[in-house]
Amino acid sequence: MSAERERMRELIEQVRFHNYRYYVLADPVVSDREYDLLLRELQAIEAAHPDWVSPDSPTQRAGGQPLEGFAKVRHPRPILSLGNAFDDEEVRAWLERIARLLPEGQTARDLAFAVEPKFDGLTVVLHYEDGLLIRGATRGDGEIGEDITANLRTIPSVPLRIPVTTGSQPPPPRLVVRGEAYFFLDQFQRLNRWLEETGEKTFANPRNAAAGSLRQLDPRITAQRPLSVFCYAIVQVEGAELGTQWEVLNYLRSMGFAVSPEIARLDDIEAVIEYCGTWMSRRDTLNYEVDGIVIKIDDLATQDALGVVGKDPRGAIAFKFPAREATSRLIDVTINVGRTGSLAPTAVLEPVEVGGITVQHATLHNFEDIARKDIRIGDVVRIKRAGDVIPYVIGPIVDLRDGSESEIPVPTTCPSCGEPVAKAEDEVGIYCHNAACPSQLARRVEYWVSRAAMDIVGLGTRIVEQLIDSGLVRDVADLYALTAQDLLPMEGFAEKKARNLVEAIQDSRQRPLGRVLTGLGIQGVGATVAQLLVERYPSLDALSASSGEEIESILGLGPHTAHSIIEWFSADHNRLLLEKLRQAGVRVTAEERAQQPERMTISLTGRAFAITGTLPTLSREEATELIQQHGGRVTGSVSAKTDYLLCGEKAGSKRTKAEQLGIQVIDEAALFDMIKGT
Ligand SMILES: [Zn+2]
Repeated sequence: MSAERERMRELIEQVRFHNYRYYVLADPVVSDREYDLLLRELQAIEAAHPDWVSPDSPTQRAGGQPLEGFAKVRHPRPILSLGNAFDDEEVRAWLERIARLLPEGQTARDLAFAVEPKFDGLTVVLHYEDGLLIRGATRGDGEIGEDITANLRTIPSVPLRIPVTTGSQPPPPRLVVRGEAYFFLDQFQRLNRWLEETGEKTFANPRNAAAGSLRQLDPRITAQRPLSVFCYAIVQVEGAELGTQWEVLNYLRSMGFAVSPEIARLDDIEAVIEYCGTWMSRRDTLNYEVDGIVIKIDDLATQDALGVVGKDPRGAIAFKFPAREATSRLIDVTINVGRTGSLAPTAVLEPVEVGGITVQHATLHNFEDIARKDIRIGDVVRIKRAGDVIPYVIGPIVDLRDGSESEIPVPTTCPSCGEPVAKAEDEVGIYCHNAACPSQLARRVEYWVSRAAMDIVGLGTRIVEQLIDSGLVRDVADLYALTAQDLLPMEGFAEKKARNLVEAIQDSRQRPLGRVLTGLGIQGVGATVAQLLVERYPSLDALSASSGEEIESILGLGPHTAHSIIEWFSADHNRLLLEKLRQAGVRVTAEERAQQPERMTISLTGRAFAITGTLPTLSREEATELIQQHGGRVTGSVSAKTDYLLCGEKAGSKRTKAEQLGIQVIDEAALFDMIKGT
């Protein structure tokens, strides 16, 4: 074996080990930087030798090709559910029930229990053969699940090969493990903020987020979602003898699976009940959702002997925590007008504590929901904070009414612009369709400048609203006409700050096309979809010239999104906006690949460029890249072999030399013209 190949093996082992320390044990032993260097070295070797790449290499996690659908997987044994106990008495009653069914000679006093927190996520089933992860599935109906192998491979805490650390016992020839995929709460909140910023649908709670992320047909999307997996049971094993649940958990841990650090083995049901109580008071301090405690008879033979009733094994039970609900009085309802013009009712509540957090506002979803639940101002309402950040109103407690409650009026005009509003077809939402609605415009501008889109720093809500009020900004393209003089009269703007903001706005014109497309805020087109579109359509013109069927079939986007794209580009005011953006110099074509490669290769191919001075929009690196993409070369100095000198402001000696040699001197605009195809 060559030294390089040997080194590759070594790197795979090291990267796998550090992954494990980081994601499973949360106890890294090297810095992120050192880890990156190892990973990069591995990637370089693999890139040079594609035939050496093995499926269990840590580089092979992220993103295979999108799937058409999920194949069905029959589980080797039914993946059972659990019966529930809602209080201490029900736990004791469970033990009494099974005590009568115990094998001859055994009594409830002889039993030991393995207890573990019950993660509120999505059950997954992982199949290993000779240590290699070969398949992963959802639980499905317990008999047949869906094959989500490609997605599970993207989760760092799922081992691609076991045992993870060298020197452990050899892996069993066959092992099927059950686990729970879930989101840490901070990661979940970050995901939702990101989705919101990019105009995509947010998830109601971490559990839905886990399910939604794992049932993605495009593993590249799953790879972007920071999921974790805890493992807690063996569905099937060949080549290992395990007598108790406690041994199972330790065996899994020794193979490198993430096992909850909170497991316990207790030999008395009262200790179990105490453990449940301790957990209930701790749950709000944790960074993950725990909806109960799983209690299992530790001895596996006894568990088996007790059998199954329905789909629940008798030998285990889930102690469920109460849901996170509270009641409060609904004082008022405010209406926010969103970017798309949707009117969103928000409840203003008497402050109340729900799960450790004081809640004063909760979403009322929409007016149809309000009517259906008959929610009135003055009502005592039940609210829920189900792990997500935005609490919502479940409904009123009608019995507590005293007659002073008043109905919540359905708005007929927009609270921002006063124009009449309309109900959307096939939708429950009410919309303001006034394209000039200041509230909508403010939200659109905020979205345009957000981190996911044009990423313009320094344009906060206050200044956006002032710019709209003063009439300086009527659409996002107007931002590019702003001068420092325009900003100076605004609250909190001094000379330097105004100049910086104008500069930041101008700089944003060179943002990649995907960000521009995201910023337009077309319904259904967040950052991810925008990126997919840009990969296929190298310019906004090309996209606007395509048909809905084409967008649907090529990108596998839903008809709803395809329709909203077509509709957006066909609206006159949007066409005008695009033209204004183009005039302002905002990028409307893709940067990486040439839009029309044949024509462009002719213009720059084989030509040698030198660059000097500061260019108006491109950095030195960007200009170099652009020239190279179109077939040209960039040299560091000017010589007789140089064809063009690309010259910006504050040009130095290169310019003098070029002029002496009679070399053509061009500016950035001329370069763009050349690229556009002479
Ligand atoms: Zn309006």
